[in-house]
Amino acid sequence: MTAPFSSDSQLSPFAADVARRVQAVRERMQAAQQRGGHGQEVTLIAVTKTHGPEAVEAAYEAGVRDVGENRVQEAESKRAALPHLPVRWHLIGHVQRNKARAAVQFDLVHGLDSLRLAEALQEAAVSAGRVVDVLVQVNVSGEASKFGVPAHEVSAFGDALARCAALRVRGVMTMAPFEADERTLRQVFSGARTSRDRLRATGHPADLLSMGMSGDFEIAIEEGATHVRLGTVLFGAREAA
Ligand SMILES: *Cc1c(COP(=O)(O)O)cnc(C)c1O
Repeated sequence: MTAPFSSDSQLSPFAADVARRVQAVRERMQAAQQRGGHGQEVTLIAVTKTHGPEAVEAAYEAGVRDVGENRVQEAESKRAALPHLPVRWHLIGHVQRNKARAAVQFDLVHGLDSLRLAEALQEAAVSAGRVVDVLVQVNVSGEASKFGVPAHEVSAFGDALARCAALRVRGVMTMAPFEADERTLRQVFSGARTSRDRLRATGHPADLLSMGMSGDFEIAIEEGATHVRLGTVLFGAREAA
């Protein structure tokens, strides 16, 4: 396999470092798909939160075409700094209803976790004249600290979303508990896969499964992830907020 860059010398040291990390991650992703996986294609989302627009550019130069941010305002300032960069912008964090108008400008909203938010997004999508791709965030582990629809409510939630015609329900997003052991991770990720299938059974075009972060993306891929959301492994540790 050839890297999408011919030599590191044209890149800044930061961009060259990111390119090497992207390459290493892609190799790990491929190995995970070969070990397990469900025959799915896997998209790498570079999570650039807390980093500047240069992180987005470095990821782009390394061949990444999907960028994730968890805060609307931070994403908007990066998008404004890079107006012509042809990447897909993912809103991966919790979405407040008063940010719905901005949220519907993203290519994929990962954090749909309540009917009230669905209604706010629906209204914002209609007034923007858009159909918005969304993922239902599912709280598989049942941790009280996590956002998300409980797994046992996913079918009812899918039914209720039928009235939000401007939302295209593309699948499920989940977050595993912090520092969980492998067995727990597999339970959470396979539970998310089941939730995705239940959502599809309610009539939505739910084919996507967003799960896996820097510490657990290989297991997520083995359990069927179609999108992994990676920050630290690509850009290094974030400074504490
Ligand atoms: C920050 C963040 C990530 C990336 O986490 P890393 O461990 O740095 O890879 C993924 N998903 C969400 C929702 C995040 O907020």
